[in-house]
Amino acid sequence: MSRGVLTVVSGFSGAGKGTVMKGLLSKYGNYALSISATTRKPREGEQDGREYFFKTKEEFEKMIAEHAFIEYARYVENYYGTPGAYVEEQLAQGKDVLLEIEIQGALQVKKQRPDTLLVFITPPSAEILEQRLVGRGTETPEVIAMRMNRAVEEAAYMDAYDYIIVNDRLDDCIESMHQVIQSHHAASSQQDEFIRQMQKELEERKERKA
Ligand code: 5GP
Repeated sequence: MSRGVLTVVSGFSGAGKGTVMKGLLSKYGNYALSISATTRKPREGEQDGREYFFKTKEEFEKMIAEHAFIEYARYVENYYGTPGAYVEEQLAQGKDVLLEIEIQGALQVKKQRPDTLLVFITPPSAEILEQRLVGRGTETPEVIAMRMNRAVEEAAYMDAYDYIIVNDRLDDCIESMHQVIQSHHAASSQQDEFIRQMQKELEERKERKA
């Protein structure tokens, strides 16, 4: 069985990443979503172990010391990190694993594993981004302002991503994501084992004929 594709999905806060991930998971059977740990307080309706593993700062720092994370970052005064064990296990089982993480984390993962696919989801315009953040109604005006400022910084890294997907119509966005990820199964970086096997078989045939 071939290994799954590891995809990192980033995008401005309010770009609709969470909804796109949910759409992929419910529409197709081969995806697994990694659940991050964070020191942020749960928002209304969020459950420990579903949206995040909610940790204290001390618990999180202990996990850092134990090398439990593939990557971690500070974002708007909180820690966020991806536990490595689940990701490894799912990839080995052939699942396409989705990480919904911000840019510092995305770049760390790509550096460690160059075969990672980096996808950036963005609303069609800055105005629509702000409207979506305000409309969500879960954040204070100060946090919205912080997130808009952060978006300015993040926009500088958009070209580090392999693909930019505009989230205008949700269904189109989900379809584009799925296509990009499925195409990546054919990338040579995903085919290491197959390439080695083919090379070995060809060498063996050559030796037999010689
Ligand atoms: P939120 O607080 O809105 O749930 O997430 C804030 C930001 O943290 C989002 O950009 C989200 O993608 C990012 N994030 C969530 N989990 C992780 C993680 O494990 N690592 C990193 N680096 N960023 C994360």
